[in-house]
Amino acid sequence: MGHWCRICDRNKPNEKFSGKGHRTHICKLCARKPKSERLQIDQAREIFGYLSQSNISKKNIARLKSLIKSENAEISKKASIVLEVALVKPGKKRRLKFLAGERRDLLIQLEETGLIYALRY
Ligand SMILES: [Zn+2]
Repeated sequence: MGHWCRICDRNKPNEKFSGKGHRTHICKLCARKPKSERLQIDQAREIFGYLSQSNISKKNIARLKSLIKSENAEISKKASIVLEVALVKPGKKRRLKFLAGERRDLLIQLEETGLIYALRY
């Protein structure tokens, strides 16, 4: 039933998607949004995804370093926080506990940016 749009993150009826939109999971409404806005949503999800992985790999770390250079301040900030987490505790296991004990500052930044939710579930 319907189709998922990765930008507005919800299911919509098939007629809300063009042929290309079906393949790329972008509804017609979101396709009209500026590219920078769509990119921000995609990259924010990507960064969040790294935190929810059981381990942040060296390849992910290299990618985070390039995301830090983003002209988008929010993306740059989130990427730098997750990079810092990856460098001190790449594995997800007991990460929250570790940060609470050793890196309270990072934990606060994760909370402020909402990234903390990637660690709680
Ligand atoms: Zn959409």
